[in-house]
Amino acid sequence: MINTNMPILVIGGGIAGITAAVDAAEVGYRVILVEKEAYLGGRVLRMYRYFPKMCPPTCGFEINSRRIRQNPRITVHTLATVDEITGVAGSYTAKIKLQPRYVTGEHAIKDTIINKLTSERANDFNYGLDTTKALYMPHDMAYPPSYVLDRTALSEDDEQMLKAECPPGAIDFNMTEKEITVKAGAIIVATGWRPYDANNLDNLGYGICKNVITNVMMERLAAKSGSAGGEITRPSDGKKIENIAFVQCAGSRDKNHLPYCSAVCCMASLKQARYIREKNPDATVTIFYIDIRTIGREEKFYYEMLEDSNVQFIKGKVAKITQASDDHSLVLDVEDTLSREKLHSGFDMAVLATGMVPNTADAKLPYKTAYDEYGFIDAAKNTDGIYAVGCASRPCDVSRASKAGTGAALKAIQCMMGGE
Ligand SMILES: Cc1cc2nc3c(=O)[nH]c(=O)nc-3n(C[C@H](O)[C@H](O)[C@H](O)COP(=O)(O)OP(=O)(O)OC[C@H]3O[C@@H](n4cnc5c(N)ncnc54)[C@H](O)[C@@H]3O)c2cc1C
Repeated sequence: MINTNMPILVIGGGIAGITAAVDAAEVGYRVILVEKEAYLGGRVLRMYRYFPKMCPPTCGFEINSRRIRQNPRITVHTLATVDEITGVAGSYTAKIKLQPRYVTGEHAIKDTIINKLTSERANDFNYGLDTTKALYMPHDMAYPPSYVLDRTALSEDDEQMLKAECPPGAIDFNMTEKEITVKAGAIIVATGWRPYDANNLDNLGYGICKNVITNVMMERLAAKSGSAGGEITRPSDGKKIENIAFVQCAGSRDKNHLPYCSAVCCMASLKQARYIREKNPDATVTIFYIDIRTIGREEKFYYEMLEDSNVQFIKGKVAKITQASDDHSLVLDVEDTLSREKLHSGFDMAVLATGMVPNTADAKLPYKTAYDEYGFIDAAKNTDGIYAVGCASRPCDVSRASKAGTGAALKAIQCMMGGE
């Protein structure tokens, strides 16, 4: 047995990384969990509901954050990235860079002070659909539950106001970036994904027509804590949605954009169609698709949606989305490949089902690592104590990401015990 007293380093605090961290810690291993955002939870926390059970992601997250809070073997670093990794399986050294939060957490900051701020920043949690104050809580369930100050967005006047009105020591304006060095026996990489940039899809009106949004934005539109208080309304004028189109494979399975299938977009749109129908019972939904890909038990979800007479499925790739003359509605041009009819149809809103790009497509690990042609970490080729899980290694859903997290925890433990 070697190195069982070494911690396991987990990079990325989404569902895959959290599962790996909690599982390894609960069998007795020390874990250092490094997350680049100000909060744990990753993309799943930004969902309104998640398939197949349609429960809010906060339920599972509450349990996980409790398990982390109660386990002294887990050390969490947020606003943190790993800048350098050296060493070999069983004995790595990593340099972690910590960005300043400025808020010390030593004193409460009153809402009345926050409300006085005029400086705002784009709310990245809501995919830019609204703004937050420059001093903000990332979201309702944020863990750690601490404010963050975005100094780049803070005006001089607001800075003076905060200095004058916050309790002394609540905000440290002199806080700077820090670097710490840690040792680890094994490393689990769970850096996840980001949505494909819909601005690249020239023909689909994103960025030109306000009512063309992406699938991740739809989650924040539907969420009560989202930009529209949970009402599914048209961004351009707040009108309740009556008919909505889903554009499947928006940029996916397309050699000019993402050549691969992201595995979850069909289920994501079916899920969104279901909750739109629940929230707006009279709304009609049209799903334009190439193939509907639902796997395993999720096929049942698809069959249930086929039964809904307000949900229409049209096989055809949307060629173009344009703004209608009323400045709000959209016109979709698409050929129905089954009937051969050329459609020119009007909708209140269109949702582009964009795929998943691994964060490692451009932000590579600071260690020799094999990637596939799209930037996902090639799990089969990295066996020396570094294990990639969740969407860092392939597009997948929550259940597969968390199972991979558990598997990686076991692999990391085996590695540290000299088993691999
Ligand atoms: C529109 C849409 C809807 C979806 N709905 C569902 C659903 O209903 N049900 C379902 O099962 N699945 C759903 N999914 C899939 C789900 O989002 C993924 O399965 C899940 O996010 C994978 O988790 P992850 O931990 O691998 O990655 P992520 O959720 O991306 O988490 C990765 C974490 O790593 C952090 N990170 C990234 N780079 C670094 C770095 N260099 N250093 C430190 N930290 C870093 C990120 O900030 C993030 O917190 C949906 C996907 C889409 C596109």
